Amino acid sequence: RAIVRDLTGVAEQNPVLPPSRVPIQEVDPTVFDTRFLRKIDDLGEGHFGKVELCQYDPHGDGRGELVAVKSLKPNSKGQLACHLRREIDTMRELYHRNIVKYKGVCSEEGGRTTKLIMEYLPAGSLKDYLPRRKHQTDLKRLLQYALQICQGMDYLGSQRFIHRDLAARNVLVENESTVKIGDFGLTMSMKEDKSYYTVKEETVSPVYWYAPECLVDCKFYPASDVWSFGVTLYELMTYCESSPTTVKNFLSVFTSLHYENSFILMGRFPGHRLSLILD
Ligand code: ADP
Ligand code: MG
Repeated sequence: RAIVRDLTGVAEQNPVLPPSRVPIQEVDPTVFDTRFLRKIDDLGEGHFGKVELCQYDPHGDGRGELVAVKSLKPNSKGQLACHLRREIDTMRELYHRNIVKYKGVCSEEGGRTTKLIMEYLPAGSLKDYLPRRKHQTDLKRLLQYALQICQGMDYLGSQRFIHRDLAARNVLVENESTVKIGDFGLTMSMKEDKSYYTVKEETVSPVYWYAPECLVDCKFYPASDVWSFGVTLYELMTYCESSPTTVKNFLSVFTSLHYENSFILMGRFPGHRLSLILD
């Protein structure tokens, strides 16, 4: 009690110390209050989600942090709400320097809708970034991005997740030397006793990025992500100026062989030859 009395005396004599009247609140830093979230810009949208740049400014002084906020598109069906919920559950478990950081959630309409709050990556996706920065980005840099994507995917696989939507549009650029994997909207978790995931529901699929076993049997193995990585690598090497969706007979010319812990990746495209062996 004497110590508390002494501390009160010290606080009174030093007005710079925070006044003891301000209650110390226990707040969950992952719960964002919708009142303080101000939209600044649209960042992009995919099949079911849209992403906006917002400032979270609880003190109202215009100095709050910038965040990326993902929500369902207004006209999307109720069934898609579970996609976003699953994406939130996935992202909050992932911690890796090459994976977009989860920040929290924001509930609206009395908890009926939830938004996902992530870190904001100012340079956007590789698909936006690479065509603009072609002349400043050499092969060494492209391979550095490829390696970072591998490292992020390796971690994701180690946590028994299958991404199912790896593509240049879903790799985000933090700065010229760092990229991160994003968009976990289709990501699935493999059960302990299974080496693959069988997809039952019908949704729009990025078929040009899918391996044959995904298209034929709806089975997704960790190695199916490796195939998608190969297609992403093709996008990377062509500075995203050529989309697999415009290459004729793309699936028939693309081959990916998985061999033990390494994989050999081969593809032949009009005007390009790509053949890589990676560990
Ligand atoms: P969808 O599931 O609808 O495809 P994404 O998560 O892929 O949604 O986001 C759509 C687009 O929004 C991305 O391609 C990218 O351009 C942009 N985007 C997404 N997340 C961020 C972020 N954290 N920072 C900056 N831009 C982002
Ligand atoms: Mg996407």
